Amino acid sequence: MSNVRVRFAPSPTGFFHIGSARTALFNWLYARHTGGAFILRIEDTDKERNSEQFVDLIYSSLNWLGMNWDEGPQVGGNFGPYRQSERAHIYREYLEKLKATGRTYEKDGAIWFKLIGERYRVFDDHRKKEVEKVKVAPTVIDDRIRGRVERLEDEDFVIVRSDGNPVFHFVNVVDDIAMQITHVIRGEDHLSNTSKHVELFKAFGAPVPQFAHIPLILKSPEMGQGKMSKRDKGALVEEYQQRHFLPEALVNYIALLGWNPGDDREKLPIADIIRLFDLPGVNQSNAKFDPKKLAHLNMTYLLELPADKFLALAQACFAKLPNGAAVMANEAYFHEVMLLAQPKIKSVDELAAYTVYFFTEDYPVDDKVKAKVMAKGEPKARLAELIAALPTMDFSSDASIEAALKALAESKGLGFGDYQAIARLAVTGTNAGPSITAIFRVLGKERVMARLQKFSAAAA
Ligand code: GLU
Repeated sequence: MSNVRVRFAPSPTGFFHIGSARTALFNWLYARHTGGAFILRIEDTDKERNSEQFVDLIYSSLNWLGMNWDEGPQVGGNFGPYRQSERAHIYREYLEKLKATGRTYEKDGAIWFKLIGERYRVFDDHRKKEVEKVKVAPTVIDDRIRGRVERLEDEDFVIVRSDGNPVFHFVNVVDDIAMQITHVIRGEDHLSNTSKHVELFKAFGAPVPQFAHIPLILKSPEMGQGKMSKRDKGALVEEYQQRHFLPEALVNYIALLGWNPGDDREKLPIADIIRLFDLPGVNQSNAKFDPKKLAHLNMTYLLELPADKFLALAQACFAKLPNGAAVMANEAYFHEVMLLAQPKIKSVDELAAYTVYFFTEDYPVDDKVKAKVMAKGEPKARLAELIAALPTMDFSSDASIEAALKALAESKGLGFGDYQAIARLAVTGTNAGPSITAIFRVLGKERVMARLQKFSAAAA
């Protein structure tokens, strides 16, 4: 065990998004990398905007992503309670400590934090009023990611509102002191608060933790421009959970949002990420969210999944669909089709559409593909030749089907490709999918024949 103590301190005011997951992950990784403690603290002081539903969502999302916390709600620890709504007595105690140092005063019913220095008044153009400023040296923050940052904190600020509720800056710092946090790893949007926090730490005579502000996540071009927000499609962790993404793929992807392992690897086992992760390795520049890259990574993880695990995922997916039970009725057939699709799909929620023609005669036909295929060469003639050759084709294996198709093509002085597109269109309605030989084998000769004949009759 090292003495590193980091915390993830979400406010339960909304859905759990990729940005929150990344802040949690960087803290968790740093704790696991250093052998320190990862603490979960729920910052639920905003009674109007908090909800228990969002608290539960924080727990379930962290659990799903595999980020276990060493201290916090549900698991306890020596520095609890871990929800700010249960820590009012601690804030009162710390307020008394601060009062005793002479660094507070009351004004307009609120309690203010007093900066030390000569005071002067100046007209603030922005706020259109005269304000009191304090002559101070800038606060220096030695950020582990951003480097040296200077901020001028030159006005007293409120720490307890007139309604008696302590403000975010105060409770956040008190908890970091009381919980003996050594490193504050959080989003860059908090950098502007950090000078206030540093001044509070100093006023309490507490050691100032090391700060590490993680750069923003920007939207991908498809999502629009600017900073990714929880309202963007694809920004919520829940969405990927519902789509049966693999949590290890999502964690791997999120780790790369602002960090890289120092080589050009993208797929890394979590053990490697833990070993290689460190704060100086986090980029200063903004990260870009790329849903395509995430989907691709998920695909590479799916590909490596043992068959039984993949089938369990597929089952969970189809169980949610109205026709799921019917699709899964013939287990051996269902398994065979699913394993054909495994290397081809980016996420398991694509399975139903990807395999639709295996489970119904009423599968959709892609009109664009159809127009293209029917416009090239003599597809009707090829179809007729296929129908004629089919009864004597050996359907016992992919190889025997391939040999039969090749023999047919050769006998006509043509290539395999001349039969492929039309055969695929006729039996699947599309131009993508597993190999045509595998499709033929799994569908069986009778169904292939029926589909070729039906298509041929309709195209005549
Ligand atoms: N509750 C704050 C937030 O959700 C935490 C800030 C911090 O990590 O210090 O942004």
